[in-house]
Amino acid sequence: MPMKLLSVASELYPLVKTGGLADVTGALPGALAAHGVATRTFVPGYPAVLSQLGKAKVVRRYDTLFGAAATLLSAKVGDLDLLVLDAPDFFAREGGPYGDAAGREWIDNWRRFAALSQVGADIAADGVKGWRPDIVHVHDWQAALTAAYMRFGPAHAVPRVVTIHNLAFQGRYGAEIFGALGLPPEAWGVDGVEYYQGVGYLKAGLVSAQAITTVSPSYAQEIRSPVHGMGLDGLINGRIDRLHGILNGVDTDVWNPADDPLIARRYSGRALAGRGANRRALESRFGLDHDGAPLFIIVSRLTWQKGMDLMIDTIEHLVGLGGKLAVLGSGDHPLEGAFLGAADRHRGRIGVQIGYDEPLSHLMQAGGDAILIPSRFEPCGLTQLYALRYGCVPVVARVGGLADTVIDANEAALGAGAATGIIFAPSDTLALHGAIGRAVQLHGDKAQWQAIQRAGMRADVSWDHSAARYAALYRTLLAEAA
Ligand code: ADP
Repeated sequence: MPMKLLSVASELYPLVKTGGLADVTGALPGALAAHGVATRTFVPGYPAVLSQLGKAKVVRRYDTLFGAAATLLSAKVGDLDLLVLDAPDFFAREGGPYGDAAGREWIDNWRRFAALSQVGADIAADGVKGWRPDIVHVHDWQAALTAAYMRFGPAHAVPRVVTIHNLAFQGRYGAEIFGALGLPPEAWGVDGVEYYQGVGYLKAGLVSAQAITTVSPSYAQEIRSPVHGMGLDGLINGRIDRLHGILNGVDTDVWNPADDPLIARRYSGRALAGRGANRRALESRFGLDHDGAPLFIIVSRLTWQKGMDLMIDTIEHLVGLGGKLAVLGSGDHPLEGAFLGAADRHRGRIGVQIGYDEPLSHLMQAGGDAILIPSRFEPCGLTQLYALRYGCVPVVARVGGLADTVIDANEAALGAGAATGIIFAPSDTLALHGAIGRAVQLHGDKAQWQAIQRAGMRADVSWDHSAARYAALYRTLLAEAA
């Protein structure tokens, strides 16, 4: 009998995605199946989710769930086995999962994700139609309260894992919401949901789960320090025996240059020439000159975390070195404006598309020579993994998962044929300048550049290894609970 896992998350590729979280929750079930774990994923019924459900069964009804009527639906989408919280008052909204189209957060996010979490704990306690999870895995702050509802409720004996995909997002609210959460009084306090005199959703999960994981070994170390711990380093250090850094993988079926319907020409590491057609298609899409100059790409949230302000300060340098740049992203409005301004100043050399475009992101990886990822911190990062798989050389800051997944093209690594990218530190403009310079130089030596591309394409970025680690962790917790 496979182990029964309930995964709770607010994003799930291909139904709803704002970032790497969705890629992970979407790919992990398939990878875990090979390790004897059968996953059901519980997500909010956003319009995008409900519209893709097809046939769904009602498996539970709530007359009032935090004041709203709600039903729990069961459905299958592709290979994903889903439970969906259909609560129109909370989730049937235009805009994104967390805010309106103008980027303003929904003011009732605390209630929306408490509702999700409460129902997650109900599923753990009562099961649905005879199915009851052996273990519960919750992702990020939006689902973290599930662990607290379980701990202080009837599902307290069911083991739970919380994964930190990004410690910068914690779900912090005022103490006044505590009374509305429906948790018992003993849940208040430093060992419960209280966090600096308020309520912390992620914090509550971290103290209520039997295991904490984060998405790379380096980030697991970094969050122990005040710089990256974002106020939670003390707590994390106190639970260090419960912390695991497990690297994300990628869905190698969705991201496969030899079989990708979203790119202009398919190719493999043996036939890199096929990238040329993708490069030209990409240049045309962004109004860039068709020439042999190194083509850098960015596919990113345009934020401080991602070092996009450093990028703005480096654009003139990049163009001065003869490089071209295609940017796909959205985020902080001043950064969006700065990129658009640079594209105006450097027609044919810089192209910018503001927005979110999944298909285009595939073409960019297939056609770009190098991807720039100058993050100030990066729990894991997925774009460098897609880049490796597509022969787009990653140029990355030495932080978190970026440091764990890219091998710098230093002399030793080049000599050994092991180099897969360029790593720089610290995350500042000077170091980024240097890294771009190195990329331009290496790109000028075609044989060497191709050796780096091919080494990257050979790297194992699949979920195999990490799925085995999650499965082993679940087994350990089950054994402990028994
Ligand atoms: P984060 O989750 O912090 O944003 P990751 O690198 O872990 O960063 O994951 C980002 C995911 O979102 C990747 O799948 C990336 O391709 C995708 N992505 C980011 N910005 C865009 C965009 N503007 N258009 C399409 N995909 C994007």
